[in-house]
Amino acid sequence: MTTVVTSPLPTSDALRTRVREAMTAVGAQVPLGDPNAGGVTASSPINGDVLFTVAESTPDQVDAAIAAAAEAFATWRTTPAPVRGALVARLGQLLVEHKEEMASLVTIEAGKITSEALGEVQEMIDICEFAVGLSRQLYGKTIASERPGHRLMETWHPLGVVGVITAFNFPVAVWAWNTAVALVCGDTVVWKPSELTPLTAIACHALLARACADVGAPEGVSQLVQGGREVGERLVEDHRVALLSATGSVRMGRQIGPRVAQRFGKALLELGGNNAAVVTPSADLDLAVRGIVFSAAGTAGQRCTTLRRLIVHSSIADELVSRIVSAYAQLPVGDPSADGTLVGPLIHETSYRDMVGALQQAAAEGGTVVGGERVDVGDEGAFYVRPAVVRMPAQSEVVHLETFAPILYVMTYETLDEAIAMNNAVPQGLSSAIFTLDVREAERFLAADGSDCGIANVNIGTSGAEIGGAFGGEKETGGGRESGSDAWKAYMRRATNTVNYSSELPLAQGVHFG
Ligand code: NAD
Repeated sequence: MTTVVTSPLPTSDALRTRVREAMTAVGAQVPLGDPNAGGVTASSPINGDVLFTVAESTPDQVDAAIAAAAEAFATWRTTPAPVRGALVARLGQLLVEHKEEMASLVTIEAGKITSEALGEVQEMIDICEFAVGLSRQLYGKTIASERPGHRLMETWHPLGVVGVITAFNFPVAVWAWNTAVALVCGDTVVWKPSELTPLTAIACHALLARACADVGAPEGVSQLVQGGREVGERLVEDHRVALLSATGSVRMGRQIGPRVAQRFGKALLELGGNNAAVVTPSADLDLAVRGIVFSAAGTAGQRCTTLRRLIVHSSIADELVSRIVSAYAQLPVGDPSADGTLVGPLIHETSYRDMVGALQQAAAEGGTVVGGERVDVGDEGAFYVRPAVVRMPAQSEVVHLETFAPILYVMTYETLDEAIAMNNAVPQGLSSAIFTLDVREAERFLAADGSDCGIANVNIGTSGAEIGGAFGGEKETGGGRESGSDAWKAYMRRATNTVNYSSELPLAQGVHFG
């Protein structure tokens, strides 16, 4: 039996009070109180109610935001990178001070349980620390020249205005990944958050504005515009936006990628995933079950890295599935801000309908469904579900789709080659994992002919990446890389410089001219 943690859910008035308190603490303007005023509605999936309304940016306002960012770029790009780092360091300090308030907003708007919401804010703090260090490490290379008396090198320069479009499910961390790195790289940022999470965006932006004021950075380096697809499209089309970093569904990436390419802009796409874990006969099943349940049911299945497909050796499938099903039965579902809850709400009714549709399709394709029912939390407008485990025949259409809900499809394999082929058989290529104690199996999974994903893990689940590595995926996931490692290079332009300090003019490749 699934335990519903909190009943009744917090009222809308209680949620509004929490929002006002958090916004006041971070120094952000509290948005309009009238939920019927039009514009972008700020709802909470906790009870499904509209809490506030936020003004949608008009075309003129988006244009002005891009213009202001372009103007700020003119001075920001020549500000020494370590000085730029001081701005990001201050932002990181403010995030530490306001971690709880920011997490509370993430819980209210995105429905994350408190621990995961705090983790998301910690991720912002971590990337700020990373970016501050990076501000002293924007290294180029010196390369051996084939010509005497010549020096050949690469230098990295700021790129320009970075447009950032983000998804609802990581309402603050993805902005921070982009913004902290872009700012130390000397770029300026125009952010369009998800229309489902306008409040967290206002709070982030207020903290950055405070950081700018505290260190004397131009406030124009960071701009916020609010709205949905139409507002995002203005960033897509605008030539002044040198890089468009867009996080969201494959559908969104398919719409914007070609349009940015058409104007020869750069695009950094972080799109949907359909992540698998292979479990081999040698796996430590206790560890595997913990990793699988967190990755598959955590965040109510609404992470891009959520584990959606389990590829299990046939000899251990029955045991593993029965352990996952009994772990699922103990997962407390309910108010994400209540102590003990592990599974919060789906973001909205459409997500629930998508989940129901996928489970029906899975059953029609021969799947056996356990769980997946709606959980009654005493509020019709909120959508809470029991995570579902579905035993599938290997060949099935539905497992190739990313359904943004807690559905774990389980399939069996006989040979590791077969398991790897199944891992790679979907159009998306974000995250993957293998649970094994056999070093040969682990290395095979990570090898060039192993997992084709941007993330391939051993003995941990598919979700919960650290900021130190580059984050992103292949194929329909879009190919972008954000966050750590050398992902910063996407936010800069590279110049190759050859300096002749001799009094001769030898030509490359031994060419003689005249
Ligand atoms: P979504 O595609 O509906 O929206 C994402 C953002 O794109 C929103 O801000 C939206 O307003 C904007 N948008 C949509 N169409 C647009 C267009 N034509 N032009 C400009 N902007 C447009 O996604 P969502 O439901 O908010 O988020 C869930 C999806 O995001 C899932 O597919 C998930 O896997 C993916 N995601 C990927 C990553 C990653 O790093 N790979 C991270 C988080 C989420």
